[in-house]
Amino acid sequence: MSSNVLLTLVDLRKWYRIKKGIFGTVEYVRAVDGVSFNLRRGEAISLVGESGSGKTTLGKTILGLEKPTSGKIIFEGRDLASLDSKGMTWYRRQTGFVQQDPFGALPPFMTVARILEEPMIINKVEKKERRERIYRALTEVRLTPVEDYLKKYPHMLSGGQQQRLVIARAIILNPKLIIADEPVSMLDASVRIEILTLLRELQKRHNLSIIYITHDLSTTRYFSEWIFVMYAGKIIEKGLTSELLKNPLHPYTRALLQAIPDPDAKNRFVIREIPPGEPPSLVNPPSGCRFHPRCVFAKKGLCDKKEPPEFEVEKGHLVSCWLYENTEK
Ligand code: SF4
Repeated sequence: MSSNVLLTLVDLRKWYRIKKGIFGTVEYVRAVDGVSFNLRRGEAISLVGESGSGKTTLGKTILGLEKPTSGKIIFEGRDLASLDSKGMTWYRRQTGFVQQDPFGALPPFMTVARILEEPMIINKVEKKERRERIYRALTEVRLTPVEDYLKKYPHMLSGGQQQRLVIARAIILNPKLIIADEPVSMLDASVRIEILTLLRELQKRHNLSIIYITHDLSTTRYFSEWIFVMYAGKIIEKGLTSELLKNPLHPYTRALLQAIPDPDAKNRFVIREIPPGEPPSLVNPPSGCRFHPRCVFAKKGLCDKKEPPEFEVEKGHLVSCWLYENTEK
């Protein structure tokens, strides 16, 4: 493994055990079902998919907030499963989390200063350094002049300012990896690009690796080096952002791109290829390719029976779809 790789996932699964019916039959929700990838230092990945595709569960599992059912999470060469509680404390310092709902993520009875100080107290950062870090983090997320914000409570901030504070808290321990789960979906359109631009600046300045979880493919263009598309617990297409947006391969990725509203009035009557139906149940996912019940290109006897492997159609551009079986480079 290259030392430039920060995080490796190997066939990661997170299944939830549930009981159904009067006899309490045990079943499993396969929220994440065999995900593998490498994330290099300083790179950003956009993890894209509809709600219920498993992307939030994947993010929480990587953060150690959910225990994997099977598979491996390797961070800086260390398998998370082998870490004791001291090791997990180390791992938590290396990771930061930016949630979707900034207000819900902030303790309402703490001031801005206290919110930022809390993780440093837990991690035994000296008092003098705590103060310096608070000033630095607030300056970096542009909550300035810093003195104007230190004594404020979350409800005294706008949605955009709350999210800046959540980001300041996420970077306060100098992590190497940030997971941002729909960080702009609850914000006004006018501040969305500002927040994504801020995250991108922090990524470049601190050589951070970021996993940006979103249902909105249109925002990934400004953000990440890579796009990974998730459907029903699996990654079904991976590629460089520029390549994947120019040349989407999987019928589901193409449908996601078609669903982006087009502001150009002359395209108002263009017919869009939106697939019929809903994302499948993760308790009984479809056999073969999980997208086959919604796919207009599905081949009977193949797509509904055999799960497609990854085909590398261009260098670094991989797709799990039988349409590309004979097109590998
Ligand atoms: Fe459609 Fe078959 Fe490709 Fe799945 S494998 S996306 S069903 S063509």
